[in-house]
Amino acid sequence: MKAYEHVLLAVDYSEQGLYVAEKARSLAYRYQAKLSMIHVLDNIPMPDTSYGTVIPLDQDSSDGLLEEEKAKFMQLGDQLKVDKANRWMLWGIPKQEIIHIAEQEQVDLIVVGSHGRHGLALLLGSTANSVLHYAKCDVMAIRLQDD
Ligand code: AMP
Repeated sequence: MKAYEHVLLAVDYSEQGLYVAEKARSLAYRYQAKLSMIHVLDNIPMPDTSYGTVIPLDQDSSDGLLEEEKAKFMQLGDQLKVDKANRWMLWGIPKQEIIHIAEQEQVDLIVVGSHGRHGLALLLGSTANSVLHYAKCDVMAIRLQDD
């Protein structure tokens, strides 16, 4: 089997996010692959910003919420030793932007967390399900424990 060369970790800040991040890091290490990470901002308002906009991480803004998000993301990036050039923060719809960056950056493995959903929640779908269905590369879904 060909070794993975570029692993993309999709980061949310759920309780088990760090667990998913550690899995991605150890996979990248095992394959000696490049590790990138992405967080898509869908929880803070960004007027006059179109979906898919890449947020520059090396420039300060006057938006306090955005600065908080950037600081959390950079802290995790430092912890995982992800090169600064491989950290992606965008404004948009998570499933779309994860797939877009994976294709643009020629990622061959996307790592996401996955909840054991059923009933209506399953019908409504999730980021993990959408990435799994639409990504052109392999996707590793890390099973998360539900309460
Ligand atoms: P969900 O199915 O939406 O609960 O999310 C499951 C997984 O999708 C998370 O563990 C992350 O890997 C990824 N994910 C969810 N939201 C985001 C986001 N805003 N940015 C990047 N990845 C995300």
